[in-house]
Amino acid sequence: MQHAAIESYHKVSGGWPIVRICILASSSAGNATFVRTNHTRILIDAGLSGRETFARLEAIGESPESLDAVLLTHEHGDHICGLLPVLRKSKAAVYLTRLTAPTIEWGKYEPNLQCFQAGQQFRIGDFQVESFSIPHDAIDPVGFCLTVDGVRIGLATDLGYMPDSVRMHLRGTDFLMLESNHDLDMLKVGPYPWSVKQRVMSRHGHLSNGMVSDFILDGLDPCVRSMVLTHLSEHNNHPAIVDMTAAQALKRRGSGCSMTVAEPGVQSQVWEF
Ligand SMILES: [Zn+2]
Ligand SMILES: [Zn+2]
Repeated sequence: MQHAAIESYHKVSGGWPIVRICILASSSAGNATFVRTNHTRILIDAGLSGRETFARLEAIGESPESLDAVLLTHEHGDHICGLLPVLRKSKAAVYLTRLTAPTIEWGKYEPNLQCFQAGQQFRIGDFQVESFSIPHDAIDPVGFCLTVDGVRIGLATDLGYMPDSVRMHLRGTDFLMLESNHDLDMLKVGPYPWSVKQRVMSRHGHLSNGMVSDFILDGLDPCVRSMVLTHLSEHNNHPAIVDMTAAQALKRRGSGCSMTVAEPGVQSQVWEF
């Protein structure tokens, strides 16, 4: 899979694309997405170990030291467990909400903290970043839209449902990374204790395949060119079910949007715009 990423990375000839995106990993076990232009390199969430993050960056020809910023969605372990090693190696600035910053154990490390308020817009190098609140059981969770030279990238994972405000923020995206966490029937009969099942199904839990299907049918902006379904549960979902459910919804919608499922734990191809 890492080979596929390298091949795709080198496929562009004649000049740089505006932006390159690689999902280093996405699942309930660890999330990290790399986005870059010619001048700015950002990691969105750092939920892989430091060693694995560095290896996966190197697999696409990126050096960990050249990261400019780490952008955090929220403080859950599957989004921050590699944060300190990544910051120590890269000296990157970390962008997170004011309320999220004190929830992280910084130890003796003195981070270059760039705190923002959920809903605020700010700039990281070439990228205009728009943050928006999402419904999830963390202190102050957010999703992001990153815009550079007219290319708009949306990311929304870890949300219990799709509020109108999130639908609104995701309008106009060319490339959308959206959670499709669980299959409701698999979750109900799966191995989790009932309290955890209730949490996942709640309004502050995670999006099911069915909710994504509903969103595709009545909320997906026709201008979205590519959609990647992410943050799959390894116990309560299967990539083939996600693919089938979303493909059916896209067909019913008459959408020409290309769709990919991020296999849990597997590094994605590199998308270029
Ligand atoms: Zn979470
Ligand atoms: Zn998560």
